[in-house]
Amino acid sequence: MSSISVTDEIAAALRASMSPCDRIAGWTFRWSVQCGQIICQQCRASQLASQPGEMFVHRAGCCARREDFPWRELAALLGAAP
Ligand SMILES: [Zn+2]
Repeated sequence: MSSISVTDEIAAALRASMSPCDRIAGWTFRWSVQCGQIICQQCRASQLASQPGEMFVHRAGCCARREDFPWRELAALLGAAP
């Protein structure tokens, strides 16, 4: 069983891009924001916007355990946007 999906490969390529817009697009492959919460696209675990400094807790077995602080990452990406 492969843990690397096509979506993961696209997200990885976008994440590695030098373009801030590509990196933001890559972020949206992995996360969504609804009603003030950030949600992992893989396991649907969520974190409130009021907890940007706390480590994101994925559900057991989630293969997207890479970004521990998605709010911080989003803020950094938006700060780099043109
Ligand atoms: Zn997850």
